[in-house]
Amino acid sequence: MNKLKRQEIFERFRAANPKPTTELEFSNNFQLLIAVLLSAQATDVSVNKAMGPVFTTVKTPQDLLDMGLDRFTEAIKSIGLYKTKAKNALATAKILVEQYNSEVPNKRAALESLPGVGRKTANVVLNTAFGEIAMAVDTHIFRVSNRTAIAKGKNVLEVEKRLLRLVPKEFLLDAHHWLILHGRYVCTARSPKCWQCGISDLCEYKEKTPHPRSKKAVSVKKATKKAAKKATKRVSKKVAKKV
Ligand code: SF4
Repeated sequence: MNKLKRQEIFERFRAANPKPTTELEFSNNFQLLIAVLLSAQATDVSVNKAMGPVFTTVKTPQDLLDMGLDRFTEAIKSIGLYKTKAKNALATAKILVEQYNSEVPNKRAALESLPGVGRKTANVVLNTAFGEIAMAVDTHIFRVSNRTAIAKGKNVLEVEKRLLRLVPKEFLLDAHHWLILHGRYVCTARSPKCWQCGISDLCEYKEKTPHPRSKKAVSVKKATKKAAKKATKRVSKKVAKKV
Protein backbone atom coordinates (compact mmCIF):
# COMPACT_ATOMS: atom_id res chain seq x y z
CA MET A 1 0.00 0.00 0.00
CA ASN A 2 1.33 3.43 -0.83
CA LYS A 3 1.62 6.46 1.46
CA LEU A 4 -1.23 8.38 -0.14
CA LYS A 5 -3.70 5.58 0.42
CA ARG A 6 -2.71 5.27 4.09
CA GLN A 7 -3.08 9.01 4.53
CA GLU A 8 -6.55 8.93 2.95
CA ILE A 9 -7.66 5.95 5.05
CA PHE A 10 -6.80 7.66 8.33
CA GLU A 11 -8.28 10.94 7.16
CA ARG A 12 -11.55 9.11 6.61
CA PHE A 13 -11.34 7.39 10.00
CA ARG A 14 -10.76 10.79 11.63
CA ALA A 15 -13.58 12.47 9.73
CA ALA A 16 -16.00 9.73 10.84
CA ASN A 17 -14.79 9.66 14.46
CA PRO A 18 -12.59 12.61 15.44
CA LYS A 19 -11.98 11.53 19.06
CA PRO A 20 -11.83 7.75 19.23
CA THR A 21 -11.24 6.04 22.55
CA THR A 22 -11.49 2.70 24.27
CA GLU A 23 -14.94 1.22 24.93
CA LEU A 24 -13.85 0.10 28.39
CA GLU A 25 -15.44 2.14 31.17
CA PHE A 26 -13.17 3.59 33.87
CA SER A 27 -12.69 6.78 35.81
CA ASN A 28 -8.97 6.77 36.61
CA ASN A 29 -5.69 5.15 35.55
CA PHE A 30 -5.91 2.36 38.10
CA GLN A 31 -9.38 1.34 36.93
CA LEU A 32 -8.19 1.48 33.33
CA LEU A 33 -5.25 -0.81 34.12
CA ILE A 34 -7.49 -3.35 35.86
CA ALA A 35 -10.13 -3.21 33.10
CA VAL A 36 -7.51 -3.79 30.38
CA LEU A 37 -5.96 -6.62 32.38
CA LEU A 38 -9.38 -8.28 32.62
CA SER A 39 -10.20 -7.72 28.95
CA ALA A 40 -7.63 -10.19 27.60
CA GLN A 41 -9.59 -12.75 25.57
CA ALA A 42 -12.84 -11.20 26.77
CA THR A 43 -15.08 -8.51 25.32
CA ASP A 44 -15.11 -4.93 26.60
CA VAL A 45 -18.86 -5.33 27.11
CA SER A 46 -18.39 -8.27 29.49
CA VAL A 47 -15.71 -6.39 31.44
CA ASN A 48 -17.87 -3.26 31.73
CA LYS A 49 -20.81 -5.35 32.92
CA ALA A 50 -18.82 -7.07 35.67
CA MET A 51 -16.75 -4.06 36.69
CA GLY A 52 -19.51 -1.40 36.68
CA PRO A 53 -20.69 -2.28 40.20
CA VAL A 54 -17.12 -3.02 41.43
CA PHE A 55 -15.75 0.33 40.26
CA THR A 56 -18.36 2.24 42.24
CA THR A 57 -16.36 1.37 45.37
CA VAL A 58 -12.99 0.20 44.04
CA LYS A 59 -11.15 3.30 42.89
CA THR A 60 -7.63 2.70 44.23
CA PRO A 61 -5.27 -0.28 44.60
CA GLN A 62 -5.95 -0.28 48.35
CA ASP A 63 -9.72 -0.48 47.71
CA LEU A 64 -9.14 -3.63 45.67
CA LEU A 65 -6.96 -5.15 48.40
CA ASP A 66 -9.70 -4.30 50.93
CA MET A 67 -12.29 -6.03 48.76
CA GLY A 68 -10.17 -9.18 48.90
CA LEU A 69 -9.50 -12.00 46.48
CA ASP A 70 -12.61 -14.09 47.23
CA ARG A 71 -15.11 -11.26 46.74
CA PHE A 72 -13.32 -9.94 43.66
CA THR A 73 -13.12 -13.40 42.10
CA GLU A 74 -16.86 -13.85 42.66
CA ALA A 75 -17.59 -10.42 41.16
CA ILE A 76 -15.76 -11.14 37.90
CA LYS A 77 -16.69 -14.78 37.38
CA SER A 78 -18.60 -13.98 34.18
CA ILE A 79 -15.28 -13.01 32.54
CA GLY A 80 -13.10 -15.69 30.92
CA LEU A 81 -10.05 -16.89 32.89
CA TYR A 82 -11.42 -15.01 35.90
CA LYS A 83 -9.53 -16.93 38.58
CA THR A 84 -6.09 -16.17 37.16
CA LYS A 85 -7.08 -12.61 36.31
CA ALA A 86 -8.39 -11.98 39.83
CA LYS A 87 -5.13 -13.21 41.35
CA ASN A 88 -3.09 -11.04 38.98
CA ALA A 89 -5.23 -7.96 39.66
CA LEU A 90 -4.80 -8.34 43.43
CA ALA A 91 -1.05 -8.97 43.10
CA THR A 92 -0.76 -5.91 40.85
CA ALA A 93 -2.69 -3.77 43.36
CA LYS A 94 -0.34 -4.92 46.14
CA ILE A 95 2.76 -3.95 44.14
CA LEU A 96 1.25 -0.56 43.26
CA VAL A 97 0.61 0.15 46.95
CA GLU A 98 4.01 -1.07 48.11
CA GLN A 99 6.27 0.18 45.32
CA TYR A 100 4.51 2.92 43.38
CA ASN A 101 2.72 4.95 46.01
CA SER A 102 -0.58 3.56 44.69
CA GLU A 103 0.01 5.20 41.29
CA VAL A 104 0.05 3.45 37.91
CA PRO A 105 3.60 3.75 36.51
CA ASN A 106 4.04 5.46 33.15
CA LYS A 107 7.03 3.43 31.97
CA ARG A 108 6.74 0.33 29.80
CA ALA A 109 9.24 -1.76 31.77
CA ALA A 110 7.49 -1.01 35.08
CA LEU A 111 4.07 -1.77 33.63
CA GLU A 112 5.19 -5.02 32.03
CA SER A 113 6.70 -6.19 35.32
CA LEU A 114 3.21 -6.17 36.94
CA PRO A 115 1.44 -9.56 37.19
CA GLY A 116 -0.88 -10.16 34.22
CA VAL A 117 0.35 -7.10 32.34
CA GLY A 118 1.88 -7.91 28.95
CA ARG A 119 3.00 -5.77 26.06
CA LYS A 120 -0.51 -5.18 24.73
CA THR A 121 -1.93 -4.08 28.11
CA ALA A 122 1.07 -1.82 28.67
CA ASN A 123 0.54 -0.28 25.22
CA VAL A 124 -3.13 0.46 25.93
CA VAL A 125 -2.29 2.08 29.29
CA LEU A 126 0.62 4.11 27.87
CA ASN A 127 -1.58 5.32 25.02
CA THR A 128 -4.90 5.86 26.77
CA ALA A 129 -3.75 6.99 30.22
CA PHE A 130 -0.52 8.80 29.38
CA GLY A 131 -1.10 9.94 25.78
CA GLU A 132 1.96 8.12 24.47
CA ILE A 133 2.23 6.83 20.95
CA ALA A 134 1.83 3.08 21.33
CA MET A 135 0.16 0.47 19.16
CA ALA A 136 -1.66 -2.21 21.14
CA VAL A 137 -2.11 -4.83 18.43
CA ASP A 138 -4.98 -7.16 19.27
CA THR A 139 -6.78 -9.64 17.04
CA HIS A 140 -8.83 -6.87 15.35
CA ILE A 141 -5.85 -4.65 14.54
CA PHE A 142 -3.85 -7.63 13.34
CA ARG A 143 -6.63 -8.67 10.96
CA VAL A 144 -7.44 -5.17 9.64
CA SER A 145 -3.78 -4.24 9.14
CA ASN A 146 -3.12 -7.39 7.14
CA ARG A 147 -6.33 -7.45 5.12
CA THR A 148 -6.21 -3.84 4.06
CA ALA A 149 -2.39 -3.95 3.61
CA ILE A 150 -2.01 -0.88 5.85
CA ALA A 151 0.75 -2.83 7.65
CA LYS A 152 1.25 -6.48 6.85
CA GLY A 153 3.00 -8.79 9.29
CA LYS A 154 3.21 -12.42 10.33
CA ASN A 155 2.81 -11.74 14.04
CA VAL A 156 1.54 -8.98 16.32
CA LEU A 157 4.97 -7.55 17.03
CA GLU A 158 5.76 -7.26 13.33
CA VAL A 159 2.43 -5.49 12.72
CA GLU A 160 2.99 -3.21 15.73
CA LYS A 161 6.41 -2.13 14.44
CA ARG A 162 5.17 -1.59 10.89
CA LEU A 163 2.18 0.44 12.04
CA LEU A 164 4.47 2.66 14.11
CA ARG A 165 6.68 3.16 11.06
CA LEU A 166 4.01 3.47 8.36
CA VAL A 167 1.00 5.27 9.85
CA PRO A 168 1.34 9.01 9.12
CA LYS A 169 2.55 10.83 12.25
CA GLU A 170 -0.52 12.99 12.73
CA PHE A 171 -2.68 9.84 13.18
CA LEU A 172 -0.33 7.75 15.33
CA LEU A 173 -1.85 8.63 18.68
CA ASP A 174 -5.37 7.52 17.77
CA ALA A 175 -4.62 4.91 15.10
CA HIS A 176 -5.05 1.89 17.35
CA HIS A 177 -8.53 2.96 18.47
CA TRP A 178 -9.67 3.55 14.88
CA LEU A 179 -8.33 0.19 13.76
CA ILE A 180 -9.89 -1.71 16.67
CA LEU A 181 -13.30 -0.10 16.14
CA HIS A 182 -13.12 -0.74 12.41
CA GLY A 183 -12.27 -4.40 13.04
CA ARG A 184 -14.93 -4.80 15.70
CA TYR A 185 -17.84 -3.32 13.76
CA VAL A 186 -17.04 -3.30 10.03
CA CYS A 187 -14.06 -5.43 9.06
CA THR A 188 -15.24 -8.33 11.18
CA ALA A 189 -13.45 -11.68 11.24
CA ARG A 190 -16.20 -13.51 9.36
CA SER A 191 -17.92 -11.80 6.46
CA PRO A 192 -16.44 -8.31 6.70
CA LYS A 193 -19.06 -5.68 5.80
CA CYS A 194 -17.16 -4.46 2.73
CA TRP A 195 -20.30 -3.08 1.07
CA GLN A 196 -20.75 -0.57 3.89
CA CYS A 197 -17.07 0.06 4.57
CA GLY A 198 -15.88 3.65 4.27
CA ILE A 199 -12.44 2.65 3.02
CA SER A 200 -13.34 -0.20 0.66
CA ASP A 201 -12.01 1.65 -2.44
CA LEU A 202 -8.62 1.96 -0.70
CA CYS A 203 -8.47 -1.45 0.97
CA GLU A 204 -6.36 -4.00 -0.91
CA TYR A 205 -8.20 -7.11 0.30
CA LYS A 206 -9.07 -9.15 -2.77
CA GLU A 207 -12.01 -11.18 -1.49
CA LYS A 208 -14.31 -8.34 -0.54
CA THR A 209 -17.78 -9.37 0.64
CA PRO A 210 -20.43 -8.32 -1.90
CA HIS A 211 -23.62 -6.58 -0.81
CA PRO A 212 -26.03 -9.30 0.40
CA ARG A 213 -28.55 -8.29 -2.26
CA SER A 214 -26.09 -7.90 -5.12
CA LYS A 215 -26.13 -10.26 -8.13
CA LYS A 216 -22.72 -11.63 -7.19
CA ALA A 217 -23.82 -12.48 -3.64
CA VAL A 218 -27.00 -14.13 -4.90
CA SER A 219 -25.11 -16.17 -7.49
CA VAL A 220 -22.52 -17.25 -4.88
CA LYS A 221 -25.39 -18.31 -2.61
CA LYS A 222 -27.06 -20.22 -5.45
CA ALA A 223 -23.80 -21.91 -6.45
CA THR A 224 -23.24 -22.97 -2.84
CA LYS A 225 -26.77 -24.38 -2.62
CA LYS A 226 -26.33 -26.21 -5.93
CA ALA A 227 -23.01 -27.71 -4.83
CA ALA A 228 -24.55 -28.81 -1.54
CA LYS A 229 -27.47 -30.44 -3.40
CA LYS A 230 -25.08 -32.29 -5.73
CA ALA A 231 -22.99 -33.53 -2.82
CA THR A 232 -26.13 -34.79 -1.03
CA LYS A 233 -27.24 -36.62 -4.20
CA ARG A 234 -23.82 -38.24 -4.57
CA VAL A 235 -23.85 -39.45 -0.96
CA SER A 236 -27.44 -40.75 -1.29
CA LYS A 237 -26.50 -42.72 -4.42
CA LYS A 238 -23.51 -44.27 -2.69
CA VAL A 239 -25.61 -45.22 0.33
CA ALA A 240 -28.30 -46.68 -1.95
CA LYS A 241 -25.69 -48.81 -3.74
CA LYS A 242 -24.35 -50.16 -0.48
CA VAL A 243 -27.82 -50.98 0.77
S1 SF4 B 1 -13.28 -3.34 2.35
FE1 SF4 B 1 -13.78 -5.15 3.53
S2 SF4 B 1 -11.84 -6.14 3.96
FE2 SF4 B 1 -11.41 -4.03 3.36
S3 SF4 B 1 -11.33 -2.87 5.28
FE3 SF4 B 1 -13.38 -2.70 4.48
S4 SF4 B 1 -14.51 -4.35 5.50
FE4 SF4 B 1 -12.31 -4.81 5.70
